[in-house]
Amino acid sequence: MGGLTGTGPAERTADTQVDVAVVGAGIVGCLTARAVLSRLPGVSVAVVERDAVAAGASRRSAGLHFPRGSSEPVRRMASFSERYYHALKQEDDRLPIRALDTTVLTATTRAHELAERYLPGTLHRTDRLPSGPAGRLRLPEGTGAWRVTGGQYADVAALTQRLAAQLRPAVRFYEGTRTVTIDSGPDHVALGLSSGATLTAAKVLLAPGPWLADPAWRTWTSGLGLRVKKVVALHVERQPRPTDGAIVFEDEDAFLLPVHHRGHWLFSYTCEQWDVPAEGTDHYLTPVELAEARSVLDRFAPDLVPLCTTGRVFCDAYSPDRVPVVGPVDDFQNVIFAGAANGSGYRLAPAIAADAARLLCPTTVPRSHP
Ligand SMILES: Cc1cc2nc3c(=O)[nH]c(=O)nc-3n(C[C@H](O)[C@H](O)[C@H](O)COP(=O)(O)OP(=O)(O)OC[C@H]3O[C@@H](n4cnc5c(N)ncnc54)[C@H](O)[C@@H]3O)c2cc1C
Repeated sequence: MGGLTGTGPAERTADTQVDVAVVGAGIVGCLTARAVLSRLPGVSVAVVERDAVAAGASRRSAGLHFPRGSSEPVRRMASFSERYYHALKQEDDRLPIRALDTTVLTATTRAHELAERYLPGTLHRTDRLPSGPAGRLRLPEGTGAWRVTGGQYADVAALTQRLAAQLRPAVRFYEGTRTVTIDSGPDHVALGLSSGATLTAAKVLLAPGPWLADPAWRTWTSGLGLRVKKVVALHVERQPRPTDGAIVFEDEDAFLLPVHHRGHWLFSYTCEQWDVPAEGTDHYLTPVELAEARSVLDRFAPDLVPLCTTGRVFCDAYSPDRVPVVGPVDDFQNVIFAGAANGSGYRLAPAIAADAARLLCPTTVPRSHP
């Protein structure tokens, strides 16, 4: 025990001193806690969450994974994460991750761009267009279809909660507890909690999702050039059939997803409302977003437009180069930020968590347990 601090349980002040403290119990925070423990079993880990496990962006996520990346680092992360989730599902078939037939549509003149973005060997040209929730899609002349292997989607909130439940015997969860201050020093980091307690850790992971402007860390995050964007998806009130798959409109950066466990489809489009803070803002569907999303959908499936009157709205953190950020932010390199996954935080979370765990538990750290 005590892999990082070198202190055994008896020397620690009960539950106020740990090796690694994770701030934020979304998919990134929970997978990082898991990655830390699998790197260094016996290390003491606490997760601090202002609300409840999976109460942030992870609760609203559409949870779609497809094997795509806009750059080489993102493709590397997508590939790692795909293998990770596959192994996780193999370990426990009850996890709410569901393999999905996925079809990508794009102008045939842009097929070469598709081949650059998707992982090698995952695209297969097809003449069979997906029927979708409204029968035949209305596609512009010159649209091509590709079937994609490796697609899946998850109930991200349920998955995060399941992962947290599995972690609980080894990890102390502080829910309903906000991190109010963070003081980093050369040997440890002190977290001031809303409960009045102080939690001391050798290393801290900041996984705050879109809560970038929290006074506890905004001086650090403001230097990263991150921004927060609204993310909107409409619910299409039509029951998916068990065999229905996802349809990705590549050129519009939009997709239709059958959400089998909720009994409806979802239409995600790219909302361009920037600099919407997570904290202190209510996130609702407004007439503007409803009209924007419907006008994109109207091009392909006009019959569905009247079925879209509700949806899910939140926000996510975005980085300047659209590659997630994982790295130290304090002078002593004891506070690691992980996130800004640009609306892809579910599908890239395992890779983000693995990178973060390497920084939190460098392999050179000697294990103090046998
Ligand atoms: C509508 C929508 C659809 C999406 N669809 C997809 C998709 O299809 N595929 C995909 O890959 N991604 C998708 N995303 C993005 C994905 O959901 C996010 O990138 C991901 O959930 C981020 O996870 P996280 O753990 O970094 O953040 P979060 O889940 O937001 O977790 C951060 C946690 O930190 C906590 N916190 C904040 N401040 C404090 C504090 N001071 N003290 C303690 N705790 C604090 C919050 O309460 C929160 O629970 C979607 C997002 C949205 C909103």
